[in-house]
Amino acid sequence: MIWNPNKECMSRDEMSALQGRRLHKIVAYVYHNVPFYRNKLQEMDVTPDDINTIEDIRKLPFTTKQDLRDNYPFGLQAAPQSEIIRIHASSGTTGNPTIVGYTRKDIGVWSECMSRCLTAYGVTRDDTFSVAYGYGLFTGGLGAHYGVENLGASVVPTSTGNTEKHVRLIRDLGISGIACTPSYALYLAETMEKMGITKEQIKLRVGAFGAEPWTESMREEIQKRLGLKGYNLYGLSEIMGPCVSYECSEQNGSHICEDHFYPEIIHPDTLEPLPYGQVGELVFTTLTKEGMPLLRYRTKDLCSLMDDTCPCGRTSVRMGRIMGRSDDMLIIRGINVFPSQVESVVLSMPEFAPRYLLIIDRINNLDTLQVQVEVRQEYFTQEMDNLGAIERLEKKLADKLKSVLSISAKVQLKPPGTIERSQGKSKFVIDKRVLK
Ligand code: ADP
Ligand code: ZN
Repeated sequence: MIWNPNKECMSRDEMSALQGRRLHKIVAYVYHNVPFYRNKLQEMDVTPDDINTIEDIRKLPFTTKQDLRDNYPFGLQAAPQSEIIRIHASSGTTGNPTIVGYTRKDIGVWSECMSRCLTAYGVTRDDTFSVAYGYGLFTGGLGAHYGVENLGASVVPTSTGNTEKHVRLIRDLGISGIACTPSYALYLAETMEKMGITKEQIKLRVGAFGAEPWTESMREEIQKRLGLKGYNLYGLSEIMGPCVSYECSEQNGSHICEDHFYPEIIHPDTLEPLPYGQVGELVFTTLTKEGMPLLRYRTKDLCSLMDDTCPCGRTSVRMGRIMGRSDDMLIIRGINVFPSQVESVVLSMPEFAPRYLLIIDRINNLDTLQVQVEVRQEYFTQEMDNLGAIERLEKKLADKLKSVLSISAKVQLKPPGTIERSQGKSKFVIDKRVLK
């Protein structure tokens, strides 16, 4: 099933023409309503009349998170306050949070796009669907909630917290779909196992996972333990919230709601657009947003775009998995390291639970990397009896990490359940160098 075949299956030519028309309109709209953009465009000597096709997007300025912070709280808002019906804030950890206002039409577009995602995952009106993203300023909870309602499935607004109660609801209400962070899905699986509830006793079959990077091995782990099929869901509050892109049954990249969010990949240093297939920084232009439209917003997320045809029938451009954020790429002893590389090594070894923490420090002017990993319960008890086994396992992991990362890491194994669990976005890195 496809929620909106008119838009999701448009020919590429029709889509480009639609995007061109919408781009012209949105540029004219911000030119007249947002002094920040009018000034930028005037500086570059660009007027809305110069923007007629989607290729003209290259004439437009970029927008950064810093621009949003500098214009806190409402500086980039284009619609009058009386038209704004909802305000969210991005979960930014440093400086001012980013405030995003939505008009009634924006909330409608968001719900529509979220319904496209859910339909691609196979969710229907017959499903009972738990939204276990946090409700509140974070866009995850309410964003997914409105999409489920718009689709017509029964929404259970569980939010995060009180996980045992959630597990009982999943069992008792026959909940068949869930939206949450991949790390919360694992926490849920763990809680369920502790409560002695097996996956055969529940009816979960679909999971919409996102809001943080995750890997194929994490997908397998979640699917195995919860007995469902897990799909990627991507979004960011500056552009809308969850709904910007979604996996279809092919699970080969995520279809972008391109009629509303135009994607580009740029080289993060030269800012030059990169061709399909190359990894770079993902940039979005909102083509229809009224509350806070953004031109060429630099997401900092690193991925590639694909435009080959997808067997599911949708024609939209797809994005690959997020490989990290350009700002969470770690440089350790001069080498680029992504936490996701460590994760894939950890998850490729059956001895370890998908719980790890990277601790980076600088001692005597030299960067050090420590990797803490939790041993699975079944291996932990066995190995403890067997003297030297812990050291052997540490060395095995250290060797694998060295071959993947090209730098050596000190490995420290931790007993099961001792690395802190998170209910929202997980923290996998502690960089003591920036704390000093
Ligand atoms: P922030 O975390 O920047 O304060 P948001 O709460 O809006 O703001 O989170 C958006 C970010 O979350 C994205 O830019 C991306 O880095 C991450 N994200 C969201 N969905 C996914 C996903 N499916 N895979 C990887 N990363 C994701
Ligand atoms: Zn597809």
